[in-house]
Amino acid sequence: MALKSPKYKKVLEHCSYVFLFLGVLMFADMDYSYDLLLERVWKVLPEKLKKHERFEIPEADAFIEGNVTIIRNFNEITASLMRSPEHIMKYVSTEVAAPATVDGSRVIIQRKLKKQVIDEKIKSYAAEFVICHECGRPDTNISELEGQKIVKCQACGGWWPMRRIK
Ligand SMILES: [Zn+2]
Repeated sequence: MALKSPKYKKVLEHCSYVFLFLGVLMFADMDYSYDLLLERVWKVLPEKLKKHERFEIPEADAFIEGNVTIIRNFNEITASLMRSPEHIMKYVSTEVAAPATVDGSRVIIQRKLKKQVIDEKIKSYAAEFVICHECGRPDTNISELEGQKIVKCQACGGWWPMRRIK
């Protein structure tokens, strides 16, 4: 395992929480019940860890109408990804090589597409533009560095240049 790899970082991070836990146990009065101990540990854990760690992207609620595909819950998907509908639409449109337009909470793609294909594209969008390339958390936002757009992680501080979608 390389010293700088995200995996190593994760292991280190987890180790530090184990020590934190042990520390709290050592200082705790032995009369405390286990539940109370847990409560104490919970109080000293950083906010980030308490959050629900699993990042869930809603599945596309899509259907084909004539020659077009309509994603009914596009607003829900973009909200979970915390990126603009236009940017996500541009990505999907380029990936499936078909024009797309945002229509209220829906998106209309000028091509017949299977739901699985849409789900895959949304997932690959998240992997490139949302989920941290360093620590794997979704707490990132778009920032700017020396005139270049970057994606920056709020959890670990990691960042990477944001690719321009053509
Ligand atoms: Zn990160």
